[in-house]
Order: sequence, then C-alpha cells, then structure tokens
Amino acid sequence: MKEFSNKYDVAVLGGGVAGVAAAVQSARSGAKTVLIEKSAFLGGLATTGLIYVYLPLCDGYGHQAMFGIAEELLKISMKYGPGTVPDWRANKGGKSLERYQVCFSPASFALALDEICDDAGVDLWFDTLVSKGNIDDTGQISSVIVENKSGRGTIEADIFVDASGDADVVRRIPAGKCKSSDNYLSSWVIEYDVRIKGTEPYILGSNLGRYILQERDVKTVNEIDGRQVSHFLLESRRKIRKHYLDEYARNDVNRHQLFPLVLPGMASFRTTYAIHGKTVLNTGHEDTSFDDSVGVIADWRYPGKMWEIPYGILVPENIKGLLAAGRCISSIGDAWEATRVIPAAAVTGQIAGMAAALAVETNSQPESLDVKTLQSRLKAEGFEFHCSDILQEKD
Ligand SMILES: Cc1cc2nc3c(=O)[nH]c(=O)nc-3n(C[C@H](O)[C@H](O)[C@H](O)COP(=O)(O)OP(=O)(O)OC[C@H]3O[C@@H](n4cnc5c(N)ncnc54)[C@H](O)[C@@H]3O)c2cc1C
Repeated sequence: MKEFSNKYDVAVLGGGVAGVAAAVQSARSGAKTVLIEKSAFLGGLATTGLIYVYLPLCDGYGHQAMFGIAEELLKISMKYGPGTVPDWRANKGGKSLERYQVCFSPASFALALDEICDDAGVDLWFDTLVSKGNIDDTGQISSVIVENKSGRGTIEADIFVDASGDADVVRRIPAGKCKSSDNYLSSWVIEYDVRIKGTEPYILGSNLGRYILQERDVKTVNEIDGRQVSHFLLESRRKIRKHYLDEYARNDVNRHQLFPLVLPGMASFRTTYAIHGKTVLNTGHEDTSFDDSVGVIADWRYPGKMWEIPYGILVPENIKGLLAAGRCISSIGDAWEATRVIPAAAVTGQIAGMAAALAVETNSQPESLDVKTLQSRLKAEGFEFHCSDILQEKD
C-alpha cells in the first residue's frame, strides 16, 4: 500500500467541539486547514458521547461571558432539531435553569457541525487516527502520522492544534509534559421510557428519557492506556445492563416499556490528560485577571463565578508549532472542572484556531505570538477578556 502525504497551514487533531471551533476559526482567518477525526462524526463527547446539554454562556446573573463560535455552536445545535433558549437575561438570581444554555439532539448537532466546517472551507478527514507527531531538529512538530483506509500517511503543517481531548499528540512526544487526573465510571444512554409523558415527540429531557450511569466511587486508574479504555467501556456497559435488569425485576416496567435506544460511541472520560502549559490555571484562579487573557468563561457550577483564560494555558512547554484546545488545555484542580465543558471547549478552540492562523501569517511560533494582535482579532469576534469588563459593559 502506498504511503500518502499532505501539507496544510494548520492541522487540527480531533474533531470534538474544541477541534471544530479551532478549525472553523483557522479556515475563516484564511489558513489552509485540515481537521482530522478518528470517528465518523464531529462533536466528540457532545455528539458521539451523547452529552446533549450545552452548558451556560452566561454567569447566571444576566451577563453573557462567552461569545463568538461558542454562541454560534449553541445556536446551530438546534438548527436540525428541538431546543429552546430560556429567558436568561432576566435572571438576576442565579437560578441555573434560567441560564443561557440549551439541550440539543446529538444527531442534529452532528449534522450542523459538518455544515459549519464545510462552509468555512475546512478539509475534513474522518475515520483517520492520528498516531504520533514527528519532531524536527529545532524541537518543532513538523508532521503527524495518521492511519485510515488508505493506509499510513503523514500530514504536514506549519502549526498543529491538539484537540484530542486526552492530549494524545503532546503525550506521545518525548519532550511533551502532561498531567493526568482521576476519572470515575460514567455513561449517558438515550432510552425509551414509557413512564415519561410529554406533548411533543422526542424532546430530550422531556419525553425522551436518559439514563446516566454515574459511579463516583468506581475510579478509573490514572494515566489511561488502550486496555483501560476497553475496560472502562465494558464495565460501563455491564453496569448499564444491570440497571435495566434491576428495573425489570422491580416489575413496574418491562422491556417493551423501558429500553436503551442509543449508547455512547466513545468512552465518557471527563479529565484524563492535560498539557503542562506555559501557564497553569489552577484552583483559586477564578475571577483572577491576567495580562494575557484572551477570553472569559462562566463557571457552569456556580452562578456569578468566572474564569479568565490566559493565552499561556494553550501553549505547551517544550514543543514548538503546537497549541492545545478543549479539555486537555493546561488547567488543573477546580479550574479543570470549569474549563472542560462544551462552551469552554468552543472558546479555547476558537482562540487556538485564531492563534494558529496568526502564527502562520506572521511566520512566528505560538510561544512568541504577539498576544495584543491576537486580542484585537478576538475582540473583533466579540470576545471580552476580563471578568470586570463583562460585569461593567452589560450592567
Ligand atoms: C459523562 C459526562 C458528562 C458531561 N456532561 C456535560 C454537560 O452536561 N454539559 C457540558 O457542556 N459538558 C459536559 N461534559 C464535558 C464535555 O462533554 C466535554 O468535556 C467536551 O465536550 C470536550 O470537548 P473536546 O472537544 O475538548 O473533547 P472531546 O469531545 O473528547 O473530542 C475529542 C475528539 O478527538 C477525537 N480524537 C481523539 N483522539 C484522536 C486521535 N488520536 N486521532 C483522531 N481523532 C482523535 C475524538 O474522537 C473526539 O471526537 C461531560 C462529560 C462527560 C464525560
């Protein structure tokens, strides 16, 4: 089989929400961009993983904190399916149900993600696994090795974005530094449940049920590897089978009345590996101002709490030509909990895509990029950089 090779300005590795945001922004900024995804769908955990809750873009007190592609994706998640944005502007009391968030159909979001990438001119490669990055004499990542039905090939690019969720690219480069974190057994199942009644057909969370397997005391081992992914998947499906058998044994529903419709197509890991970046966002950094802040995210758990995103958390130490986006950026502790979710992945993805395209345009490295120029370009996309500005501008 002949080996293949292709060259791009920017290569985004992993097509979850972060990868889509990065690729769309990079292509819109004029860079020749490829997005490489190992599954058949874009969206990662949000679609293949069935996580259909787009957590809030606002702070819970009527202030919008996240803008740009994060808001665009929230809107298009409902383009081919149901979902309604609540009256979040009126919410001055921080009640979580009235925040700027929606439930979407994973299938309709997947269709819309193809479309937004197509429209931006992103070259999409599905069913293509990124196995490792090649580093040149200067310590720069020059290409990645990929495998698909054509065989093994290389993708060259000036700048790469690791949006694999698990820092697959950074982790496999010898100089790459990562941190790992505990996980616990968890999985979302879309199910038919005769006990849930509603007026409209197939409204998620209303009359189409979901079973959430959540076993916080069943920890997965740190530093997941290939065997542990299989173990995680098999163990979660064993627990899901037990859940249905237990329900049937209680005799109030039978298998005609309650059954799984769709299972997640990927392991539901929350936090696995994160890069060790030039800056590390940590517990206690909420509401902290950074000079190199390139965005703000609202904390989905606590109304009123926000986190600035310093540019340095996207830039890995010791590797040139690479940025990270999504749930594998350089956050730890409570900051990782806040930054790993769907809207935050879209925000860090867009920043990484903008930074990658700017690095190509100015022939510079991500680590020495002119952050002021990056900030002015993000500002033109509607971004705010400081928590205080978000509270001030909208009050
Ligand atoms: C059980 C659970 C419940 C959650 N609940 C919510 C919620 O209610 N709301 C919310 O907003 N967030 C929630 N989250 C978090 C959120 O879903 C994810 O953290 C977020 O979607 C991460 O996006 P991402 O793009 O960074 O990563 P991912 O979604 O993991 O995307 C990574 C993509 O990269 C691809 N990929 C990985 N490795 C390779 C490779 N080597 N080659 C090619 N492709 C590769 C994957 O197939 C995937 O498509 C939940 C997470 C879990 C696990």
